[in-house]
Amino acid sequence: MACDCLNTLLKSATERVAKRNPRILTGTLKLNWSNISFQGNLIIPIETTYKKAKADGKPYKNPTTEHIYMVPTFCPFCGTKTSTKEQEKS
Ligand SMILES: [Zn+2]
Repeated sequence: MACDCLNTLLKSATERVAKRNPRILTGTLKLNWSNISFQGNLIIPIETTYKKAKADGKPYKNPTTEHIYMVPTFCPFCGTKTSTKEQEKS
């Protein structure tokens, strides 16, 4: 992202968690964005679940789960326009 919100928020959250949990051993607390950040870009996953039909038309026993990913064009925290690959090339 063009801004530093993901890092800033993670640092702030780390400090908050440490403050709330004084018994956490020094140097062991690690916070990471889970499933929403990839290489510094914000990604919002959408889980899709459906039942698929076999070639004969009968349904598979188990549902299929897939993820599709939305990438916001503006940072939801500060409103800065996020850079795209096309913009980075120019
Ligand atoms: Zn931001």
